[in-house]
Amino acid sequence: MNKRLIIIANRLPVTINKKEGKITYHPSAGGLATGLGSFYREKKGVWLGWPGLASEKIRGLEESISSYLKELDCSPVFLTQRQVENFYLGFSNKTLWPLFHYFVQYTTFENRLWEAYKRVNRHYCEVALEVANEDDIIWVHDYQLLLLPGMLREKLPKATIGFFLHIPFPSFEIFRLLPWRREILEGLLGADLVGFHTYDYVRHFLSSVRRILGYDHSLGLITTRNRLVKVDTFPIGIDFLRFARAAELPEVKAEIQRLKRRIGNRKVILSVDRLDYTKGVPKRLEAFDLFLEKNPQYREKVVLVMVAVPSRTKVDHYIQLKREVDEHIGRINGRYGTLGWSPILYLYRSVPFPTLAALYNMADVALVTPLRDGMNLVAKEYIASKRDNLGVLVLSEMAGAAREMGEALLVNPFNVGEVAQALKTALEMEEEEQRERNIRLKERLQRYNVRRWAGEFIEKVESIRGLQEEMEEKCLRGILLRRFLEEYSQAKRALILLDYDGTLTSFTDRPEKARPDNEVKEVLKSLASIPTNRVVLISGRKKENLEQWFGNLGIDLVAEHGVWLKENQDPWELIEPLKQDWKEAIRPIMEVHVDRTPGAFIEEKEFSLVWHYRKSDPEMGSIRARELKDALLNITENFNLTILEGSKVIEVKPANINKGMAAMRWVSQGPWDFVVAIGDDWTDEDLFEALPQEAYSIKVGFGLSKAKFNMDSPQRVRGLLKEMIKIKTAESEE
Ligand code: UDP
Repeated sequence: MNKRLIIIANRLPVTINKKEGKITYHPSAGGLATGLGSFYREKKGVWLGWPGLASEKIRGLEESISSYLKELDCSPVFLTQRQVENFYLGFSNKTLWPLFHYFVQYTTFENRLWEAYKRVNRHYCEVALEVANEDDIIWVHDYQLLLLPGMLREKLPKATIGFFLHIPFPSFEIFRLLPWRREILEGLLGADLVGFHTYDYVRHFLSSVRRILGYDHSLGLITTRNRLVKVDTFPIGIDFLRFARAAELPEVKAEIQRLKRRIGNRKVILSVDRLDYTKGVPKRLEAFDLFLEKNPQYREKVVLVMVAVPSRTKVDHYIQLKREVDEHIGRINGRYGTLGWSPILYLYRSVPFPTLAALYNMADVALVTPLRDGMNLVAKEYIASKRDNLGVLVLSEMAGAAREMGEALLVNPFNVGEVAQALKTALEMEEEEQRERNIRLKERLQRYNVRRWAGEFIEKVESIRGLQEEMEEKCLRGILLRRFLEEYSQAKRALILLDYDGTLTSFTDRPEKARPDNEVKEVLKSLASIPTNRVVLISGRKKENLEQWFGNLGIDLVAEHGVWLKENQDPWELIEPLKQDWKEAIRPIMEVHVDRTPGAFIEEKEFSLVWHYRKSDPEMGSIRARELKDALLNITENFNLTILEGSKVIEVKPANINKGMAAMRWVSQGPWDFVVAIGDDWTDEDLFEALPQEAYSIKVGFGLSKAKFNMDSPQRVRGLLKEMIKIKTAESEE
């Protein structure tokens, strides 16, 4: 079945305007609108967003606007003037935008704006629910709607939801400043797939999720309490052919002629951006100034065409920036200009497409030097426009585009000297070299265009949804649970194999703290007192611990992941003769890693050594765990030992001894009418694997496993065991 695609972005691909009381419609600027405009309509989709005018200005016209937009498969989200101010100009552009672009000094943290942001995200959610349902693919875009995936997930638990961030995701050190960081991450994790332009943003996001919410990931797949969320890189492309073919258009040809007459045969350096402080325009002007100062031979020979598109003109920092840029341009033109030549041709406005395409075509150098930029499409559009493959791109390494455009002249935009030098290098680059660089750049842009970008994103989000459904189908509830209980109730001999930590109780910082509470003891005792049951607790803990806590409950015990067994109140016995001499070789290595990792410690069991890092910094802990594993590998082979990676532990123990092997002692005492094993971590996988075909295996938590079923928490496991007790007790009373 082909699913419908619902795009939700702050703005619609169509913008409305009002002139002399009449509403006019025109295409919105920006890569997303042009890139996805045709794509979503082919998918029988709908695009939701703000049409660009506050509700106060269109009173009484909402109906006609909605029905006009409906023809274009657009659904408007109307916002009042106040909402625009507090949500869009406020929280989105005075808090998230500067913070995510590393402009901490420009960032405001105001609860009032946050509240407005939440309310407007809720409003988008309500409008979306009128249009979308669980069979759709919902694709939410950008920093204005970070809470929306979570809100949608609450209402449409089974919908396919993707989120893409078009701006950078900052490092944890920056993101942590946000007072509402938890809510924002939780909002994003409502999606099945969260996409970013570059791998760095992915890393930053994963690290924030791990540190702030405590969720780990494996190759970008996060396991939350009850869901999987994939995080991946999708560098946005452009509508390649639109730019590659532009020079054939008569209006573009005419524009090139007109501009040539104006500029003469001077070299053209081009700069195009919204006038935003992230774009580094003042630094760029400093660099151009320095270039002219140091290279007088280029005076009157070059023109910097600077297109600055007005943006967020009501926000203070933008007003200041405009003033600064105007003055700086005035100074440069005043200082170097002659009667027949102004060094900078300044256009403070949005230019029509033919002019933009003409400028891309003519420019000998494009100077794209943002201080921070999620991607930067201008860099890509410039290269795509070069039919003869001549022209040099000077590109800031702080732009996401730099990750894919290594053939450009990459510069640090804060290093004015370096940018001035790059400009000179660009102007003097041999044509052969220009061609070589541009051909390679262009090939990539042509292949990975905006449709491919969108297509890959949609494909991925659907596949993650599929995985999610597979996992959900494994959840032991509903009909599956009823069948489980039915089979159990009929069993004359039932074998129940249970792990303890993470299965019957949640994890704590120190293992000795996880003492069983009365409830769990009561449950185990009652379960074991049913004559048709055999209950075995299979744990990684020391036998002394287990003896003390569970010794008198009438259950059998397995300690140290299968090293020690205790049946029918008999004394503990070793599963087979084992050695301990290897400990002297392993302990010092673990100790070094304890010293280097605050919060880590060693637990010594009779036949194993365990390195715990639950209390350590999560990032450092997992790096050290990997290092420790590497360091141990050689030695463990020599001693015939094995390394187990549990939940925040690395354990070294004799090879071939595991929970599965231990379980065989009981399994082989069959025939059993009913066998169930419940566990939560890596060490329980051996147990699941060793069970007979028809047995029930249940993993606690969400995540890939050999178990046939899942349950989401120790609380639920306890609930299940109580249910099992109830069934058999009721039977015996009948
Ligand atoms: N652009 C435009 N009108 C102009 C100048 C530029 O629509 O007068 C377009 C340009 O073609 C590009 C986009 O604006 O697609 C700018 O995207 P970019 O990623 O470079 O920066 P952003 O503005 O998204 O931060």
